[in-house]
Amino acid sequence: MDEESCRHQPVYFGVVNINIDERTIGSVDVWRCGVCKKRFCEEKQLGIESIADTVGMPRIDPGEKWGVLVSKMQKGKDRWSLVRLPRDGHVEHERIDEKVVHLPVRNYKVGEDGYWSFLVDDHVNRAVEV
Ligand SMILES: [Zn+2]
Repeated sequence: MDEESCRHQPVYFGVVNINIDERTIGSVDVWRCGVCKKRFCEEKQLGIESIADTVGMPRIDPGEKWGVLVSKMQKGKDRWSLVRLPRDGHVEHERIDEKVVHLPVRNYKVGEDGYWSFLVDDHVNRAVEV
């Protein structure tokens, strides 16, 4: 089934816990369409209600993968965010000072001083120390 013509039927697939000093500060819920296997992700910050900016399942383009961007200089909830990573290109990131920057992405990885990233798919049902 072509994922673009699929009428997705997402079911809960798993979770990636985001840890700092072995303490979970948030998570990414992962849903998977039972028909075409496309993944959908939702960012959950501990103690904050769901902040999904779209109704229903968050969208992602066919060429993108779900990832977590880590800002090494920030602490707590500002240290990480759910992003859509292209294979090669840029990802938009709103810094803590509200300035929007474009971080270069190569092979689904953010390559910029002060940041790192990982793919959600590689860590489902595990915790990642950020
Ligand atoms: Zn589907």
